[in-house]
Amino acid sequence: MDEQRRFVCVTCPVGCNIEARVRDGQVLTIVGNRCARGADFVREEITAPRRMLTTTVRVRGSALPLVPVRSTAPLPKGRLLEVAAHLRGLLLDAPVEEHQLVCADVFGTGVDIVTSRALGVDER
Ligand code: SF4
Repeated sequence: MDEQRRFVCVTCPVGCNIEARVRDGQVLTIVGNRCARGADFVREEITAPRRMLTTTVRVRGSALPLVPVRSTAPLPKGRLLEVAAHLRGLLLDAPVEEHQLVCADVFGTGVDIVTSRALGVDER
């Protein structure tokens, strides 16, 4: 039986409402997208959804206890909780540079985790 699925394309700020008809995991039709990138977005959402990850990692020796980190590319959606749990267990030492590598090729995804800002040493 066909399934009708609805999406909001997040590829650009227009945010097209897109409907796709799916049968057995195969995309039959896509309507509502203003450009081809919307169709690519929907196909990826149906077959292998990915998301950017932003979270924090603990830091020792800085005035702030946490540094924001992000993935350098979208990760498979099904791996996000696993990666976030791994990052919760890490502890970096100050100073921390902006774009410092925190985790290379995290869980073999080909995506790195890097810091989003610098944190100096707490001199107090
Ligand atoms: S379908 Fe195209 S125009 Fe619409 S939100 Fe996606 S990228 Fe933007």
